[in-house]
Amino acid sequence: MSRLDSFIRRLTAQRDILNAIIDLVGETPGPVLEFGLGNGRTYDHLRENFPGRRIVAFDWEVRSYSASTPAAEDMVTGDIRESGQAFVSIGAALAHADIGTGHDEIDAVTLTWLPQLMAGVLAHDGIAVSGLPLEHPELMALPLPEGIKEGRYFLYRRT
Ligand code: SAM
Repeated sequence: MSRLDSFIRRLTAQRDILNAIIDLVGETPGPVLEFGLGNGRTYDHLRENFPGRRIVAFDWEVRSYSASTPAAEDMVTGDIRESGQAFVSIGAALAHADIGTGHDEIDAVTLTWLPQLMAGVLAHDGIAVSGLPLEHPELMALPLPEGIKEGRYFLYRRT
């Protein structure tokens, strides 16, 4: 499979999961956390899917389209590994992390802290969506929507 095909399948999986979790998040109170604002595409999609919810986005710095940039009070800059700590126990209904790089050695370092952070920010029953696999005793893997191959994107519920 070409890198283009692989990229398209990954984004399709990302979008399909973000659509499929609307009902799973349901009435769980709490904000949505977007780890890795990037261009702001998935932030914009979350805004459409979760109108009225507070969505807090994180990145090293703001590099998103102006129309997909959160208000200053909902934008956290700096290294998520550190900036995310202030949000542990916030009781998020949903946390989405799209911070994988495709470079195994960099992603291995991210995986030393990301599962713990994702579990820590979520409410009981909160949903975690991630581009990297999250191994944590409080994150239970959920079945992926039909048509998405295992390992392409990851979905969990906080126990
Ligand atoms: N989902 C986004 C979208 O649809 O536009 C794209 C996210 S992009 C693939 C990943 C982003 O995560 C990059 O903007 C990168 O700067 C950010 N990122 C990765 N690791 C980070 C870290 N440790 N701290 C802060 N930002 C990080």
